[in-house]
Amino acid sequence: MDLSIVIPLLNERESLPELHAWIRNVLDDLPWSWEILFVDDGSQDGSWEVITALAAKDPAVKGVRFSRNYGKSAALQTAFSRVKGNVVITMDADLQDNPEEIPALVHMIREEGFDLVSGWKKVRHDPALTKNLPSKFYNWTVRRMTGIPLHDFNCGLKAYKREVVRAIEIYGDMHRYIPVLAKWAGFHRIGEKVVRHQERKFGVSKFGVERFVRGPLDLLSVMFISRFGKRPMHFFGPLGVLFFLIGLVILLVLSWQKLMHHEYGIADRPLFYFGILALIMGTQLFVTGFLAELISRSASQRNDYLIRETTGI
Ligand code: UDP
Ligand code: MG
Repeated sequence: MDLSIVIPLLNERESLPELHAWIRNVLDDLPWSWEILFVDDGSQDGSWEVITALAAKDPAVKGVRFSRNYGKSAALQTAFSRVKGNVVITMDADLQDNPEEIPALVHMIREEGFDLVSGWKKVRHDPALTKNLPSKFYNWTVRRMTGIPLHDFNCGLKAYKREVVRAIEIYGDMHRYIPVLAKWAGFHRIGEKVVRHQERKFGVSKFGVERFVRGPLDLLSVMFISRFGKRPMHFFGPLGVLFFLIGLVILLVLSWQKLMHHEYGIADRPLFYFGILALIMGTQLFVTGFLAELISRSASQRNDYLIRETTGI
């Protein structure tokens, strides 16, 4: 199959028929074989009935329904393990992403050789204060921290080679960092395409202020796991040694002063407490490193490497 279109959705009943018709309208003229995979992330508004009705009429429509709301990342992950197309497109269900972008995205993957192409909602039709401004800051931060030059990491409209979606695993709220996960999995050809964006026509946004807390925490996790996930001691070890040495030097100097210069009352000096604190923190960081090594050693994926090619075996 040439193309899989993945659509995660939560309570988007009104949008689905129009979205389906719009996608058909775009793809019917093209010579590709394709499927639309709707993932109903625990909708309560009858979205699933709409999906089953669409699937009954159109054999290209497939659906998966969760028993409850697990989140957009879980919905994408479930779809990614089922897609059949060589190229995979993800898009939001709320008619904000424009299906007319699909042919150009597919072209970038198939002809221009990108592993992943992320949409860029350059002109964005969302509330400025709660969405657009925070998103600018967020994208700048992620760009700086990851070195991936995208403007819109969390754009729902993206295109992938199938190998990419099979290689990455998204959980929690990690859908915001898919390009980072892809790069970390060895897919470096990451492109960007300016895409049209519409105002939400029906329903409401599913992401509230909690994303300001979760987004940055997930970014830290992604950065940490990508660098140190398989060798946590390399993170904790140097910090532990550093703190331990600082503490040790301080306490040795204080002991020296007490013994040689008969200075009494070193326990009244702030430095004394700082020395002890540093020593304890150093030990704790070190022990944490050992525990983390034990955990990663017993993880079943500890030897999962992505082999791109082999020869002669
Ligand atoms: N969505 C989902 N599960 C969730 C939250 C959202 O599948 O827990 C879907 C939602 O239905 C939509 C897409 O993810 O298709 C993007 O959500 P939304 O449009 O609310 O985000 P925004 O555009 O406001 O950032
Ligand atoms: Mg939206």
